[in-house]
Amino acid sequence: MRAIVLDGQHRFKPNFPVPKVQPGWARIRVKTAGICQTDLELINGYLGFTGVLGHEFVGIVESCEDIRWIGKRVAGEINAGCGQCSWCQKGQGRHCPSRITLGIDRLNGCMADYCVLPISNLIEIPANISDDRAVLIEPLSAACEILEQLSLNGSERIVVLGDGRLGILCAWVLSTVASNVTLIGHHPEKLALSVWNNIKIAHDGNHCPGADVVVEATGSATGIAEAMTLCRPRGIIVLKSTVAVSEAVNLSPIVIHELTVMGSRCGQFRHGLSLMAKHPDMPLESLITNRFPIESATAAFLMAAQKSAIKILLDL
Ligand SMILES: [Zn+2]
Ligand SMILES: [Zn+2]
Repeated sequence: MRAIVLDGQHRFKPNFPVPKVQPGWARIRVKTAGICQTDLELINGYLGFTGVLGHEFVGIVESCEDIRWIGKRVAGEINAGCGQCSWCQKGQGRHCPSRITLGIDRLNGCMADYCVLPISNLIEIPANISDDRAVLIEPLSAACEILEQLSLNGSERIVVLGDGRLGILCAWVLSTVASNVTLIGHHPEKLALSVWNNIKIAHDGNHCPGADVVVEATGSATGIAEAMTLCRPRGIIVLKSTVAVSEAVNLSPIVIHELTVMGSRCGQFRHGLSLMAKHPDMPLESLITNRFPIESATAAFLMAAQKSAIKILLDL
């Protein structure tokens, strides 16, 4: 099969072996895969991953022991837990200590004609949701994770830092439950297309301190410091970008202002899917700035690394 394989560098392989299906797992024929910031970080050596890249996809179940799934159009949660531990028993396999992760950690990913995942990870995509919306379910669900972690009453002043794809999605998702959401970024064209559902837009430097909740989604190491300056005493900072914690940061404002800092990662696809179904006007497709055939993945990665890119898709 065709696959984008990372082994020190990434390359297109036309004859990579098709993955075998273990009991309880399914093989999915990938239709479209999304390129994510995490993929670019993996290419730069993050986590030392080798194997097939990719964790965002929509595809068709081709082979699995439960024949009811065959032919279904699906997306799949990316963490494959052991199924036995207390986290897995609670349906929180994304925190299983023995989990492997699609295209990120010891499990070949979805930038290939086929990928495999546990059947329990799959979610069927209803016919009225297009492939181009469905392929965004992973980042949308990651944004929904904030709603699962925080109980908001809707009156909070919320600031989202970062006008990349995750920041825009976080602002959109939060705006479905809170009326005062401001997205701060520094790319006029990205801010322009993030307008939806009464969210307010602000350019970097136009600080609005005193927020009850600040979501850090800049993908830059300076984001957490900025979040601390924008958050009111005893407010909450939600960390969404993994790079935010990789550099030396003065944490004293957290103590002085008694801030709560909360890490937030992957969400449950059923939450992302129900939000998509509830808000068919959420302009998810507008985040797709380009698409390439899988053979042109190198050009696609180059474009994905440009500041103007939001979501780039690879078509299989
Ligand atoms: Zn991703
Ligand atoms: Zn487990």
